[in-house]
Amino acid sequence: MKKIILSGSTATGDLTIGNYIGAINNWKSLQEEFDCLYFVADLHALTVKQDPEQLRKRCLSFFAQYLALGLDPDKNTLFLQSHVPEHTELSWVLTCLTPMGNLNRMTQFKDKSQQHSKNINAGLFTYPVLMAADILLYQADLIPVGEDQKQHLELCRDIVVYFENHYGEGVFKMPEPYIGEQGARIMSLQDASKKMSKSDENEKNFVSIIDPPKKIQKKIKSAVTDSGEVISYDPENKAGLSNLLTIYSVLSKRTVNQIVNDYEGKMYGHLKVDLAELVCETLKPVQEKYEDLMKNEDHLQALMKKGANKARERASATLKNVYDRIGLLPR
Ligand code: ATP
Ligand code: MG
Repeated sequence: MKKIILSGSTATGDLTIGNYIGAINNWKSLQEEFDCLYFVADLHALTVKQDPEQLRKRCLSFFAQYLALGLDPDKNTLFLQSHVPEHTELSWVLTCLTPMGNLNRMTQFKDKSQQHSKNINAGLFTYPVLMAADILLYQADLIPVGEDQKQHLELCRDIVVYFENHYGEGVFKMPEPYIGEQGARIMSLQDASKKMSKSDENEKNFVSIIDPPKKIQKKIKSAVTDSGEVISYDPENKAGLSNLLTIYSVLSKRTVNQIVNDYEGKMYGHLKVDLAELVCETLKPVQEKYEDLMKNEDHLQALMKKGANKARERASATLKNVYDRIGLLPR
């Protein structure tokens, strides 16, 4: 039996080459070895105010991008979180088991409530419990987590312990963090001290998967570097340039050293022009496939439905066990 892996991306902003390099590209390589579930976290997106029409479009677009980036709907279970109602149902049960104190400790809540100080809603606070439900519904063995999600996975493990203390063992699997091949962390193009983030308000900070080539060229050309002239990899003193070298290295599958050697005696501008071309070339087939997929919404919806049905088979079995264990009558 293959081990079960689950991961997702919140439906906010535009998927970036950071998401591609740090997450989706790795998801693709896991699809042979593991039993993978990948979802578009549309419910998580609601912790921030959303325009309904935009949210609808974005969810469809993210799903199509998962496919265009090479996630195979036959090998994986690909779905939208809201299409599997068990997520919200389990989330409520777990919310009632989670002490406020544990949620108060979440650093991401502190960060995000500063970021969205005008909309500090209860969902922002209980979001890690919904994430625990996402994970526990599928008896997932492994969860690929970035630094920013480690604390939430710990909370999920605590919740399993609370549940078992009350209701006994055997309902949930204790998930482990998955530390795969070190996925590169891609930094913002205008400020390399922070990570590239898809919900960044300044779109010059990221390259989106579906940006047209002209836009990609412009964004990379205007990426902030330094006033030096020698191309070398030095994340501390040349953070912007080093970030470009990292992107170059991952996409060209060559080492940073090889690239630095190639650019000996050349200027930053040369590197930027070539990198922009490489990014455009890499994304070209993805964008073509994406355009095709977006032309046929019925097909996309059929795939979503198929994925949700596959997901629900597992999720409903777990939820049934939970309801039974906690004393809710069968329906
Ligand atoms: P947001 O700003 O909305 O949080 P995000 O870009 O951080 O957007 P997430 O939905 O939080 O995206 O994360 C999706 C996946 O992409 C996660 O696995 C995360 O680790 C990965 N990821 C996000 N940003 C980067 C980045 N700059 N470099 C590498 N991986 C990234
Ligand atoms: Mg994030």
